[in-house]
Amino acid sequence: MNNNDLALCLEHAAAAREKVATATPQQVAAVLAAPRADVGSLAVLLSSAADGMLEAMAGRAQRLTRSHFGRTVALYAPLYLSNYCPGGCSYCGFAADRQQSRRRLEHAEIETELQAIHHLGLRDVLLLTGERCPEADFDYLALGVEIAARRFPAVGVEAFPMTEAEYARLVELGCISLTLYQETYDRARYDEVHRWGPKRDYAARLEAPECALRAGMRSVGIGALFGLADPVSEALALFQHALYLKRKYWKSGVMISFPRLCSEQGGFSAEYEIGDQWLAKVIWAFRLCLPDVPLVLSTRERPAFRDGMAGVGVSRMSVASRTSVGGYADGGAGGDDRQFSINDDRGIDEFCAMLHARGLQPVFKNWDAALRDGAAA
Ligand code: SF4
Repeated sequence: MNNNDLALCLEHAAAAREKVATATPQQVAAVLAAPRADVGSLAVLLSSAADGMLEAMAGRAQRLTRSHFGRTVALYAPLYLSNYCPGGCSYCGFAADRQQSRRRLEHAEIETELQAIHHLGLRDVLLLTGERCPEADFDYLALGVEIAARRFPAVGVEAFPMTEAEYARLVELGCISLTLYQETYDRARYDEVHRWGPKRDYAARLEAPECALRAGMRSVGIGALFGLADPVSEALALFQHALYLKRKYWKSGVMISFPRLCSEQGGFSAEYEIGDQWLAKVIWAFRLCLPDVPLVLSTRERPAFRDGMAGVGVSRMSVASRTSVGGYADGGAGGDDRQFSINDDRGIDEFCAMLHARGLQPVFKNWDAALRDGAAA
C-alpha cells in the first residue's frame, strides 16, 4: 500500500480489536454519555459489555440521527447497467464462472430504465457494473452517467476502480458520488475470496475512494461485506477508513453501508453468521461515533429490519430495487441474472407509507447542481 497514513489508520483498527474483549459496562456507560469519533469508543460500543445497554444505544442513535438529518430518510434506486464481469469473487452472482445469461443495457434501454425509476418519483440513481471489461468499460459507464445526469440531479456509480482522470471525467459528466466497498479489510481473506481478476488488487481498491475525492467527487460510499471475515475487525477497519477520508477530505462527504452476505448467493456460505441484533448494534455504534455521516441500508435486508433501523441510525435507503439488468422495465421479472436476492421487494408507496407511519419523511431529491454552482459563485 502506498498510502502510509491510511495504512496507519488500519493498524490502529487492529490494535483496537483487543479493547473489544476487555471493555467494561462502566466504559460503555461513559462512551454512551459522551461518544467520540475515535476507534477506541467504537471498540467499547462493539463489546459484549454493551449488550445490556442496547436500548440506550438505540435511543441515543435515534436522537443523533434526528439532530443531524431531521426526520428524513433519503431514498435512491440502484440501476444495473451490465452483468458482464471478468471477476472471480466467490460470493457474487455476477462472477465469471456463474452460469447465467449476460447482457448490458444499450442506450435506448438505459433511457427506458431511467424513465421507469424517474416515474417512481426518485431523483437519485446509482449506476452499477461489474469489473472493467470490453462490454462494460469506462466509455460505456461514462455514457450511462451522461444519459442519467440529463434526468437525475443525483447520479452515483458503483463499478470498478478508476484513474483520477477517469473519475474527474465522470464528475464533469454529472456524477456526484462513488460507492466502492472494500468487501473485506482482512488481507488474507481478501486474497482467498477474490479468486482472479482485477479486484485481486487490494491496494488499488482501498485507495480508489480517495482517488475519486481527489478528482472532485462530491462524496464516496464505503462498506464491508459483513460475513466474509471477523465482523468486529471489519467494523473497526471500516470506521478507520471512513474517519481517515472524512478528516482528510473534510469538504466532501463520506457515506457508510452495512451489507451482509446472503449465504445462498452463488452457492457461497458466509463464514460468520451476522445476526440482526449484532448488525443493529454496529449501526448504532457508528451513528454514535460518526453522528453526521449518512448511514445506508439496502433492500438486501428484510422489511422488519429496515423498518426498525429507518431513522434510528440509518438515514439513506434504497427502495423498489431491481438487481437484474433491465429489472425496472420488465417489472422485476428478471431471470437468473441477479447479483444478489433482494429481501425487501415492497413498492415505493408501501415503503413510504411505512416511513410516514413512523413519523419519518421520505426524501426523493436530496441534491441539485444549483447548490454546487451557487456555492461556487
Ligand atoms: S463482486 Fe463485482 S467484481 Fe466481483 S464478480 Fe461480482 S460484479 Fe464482478
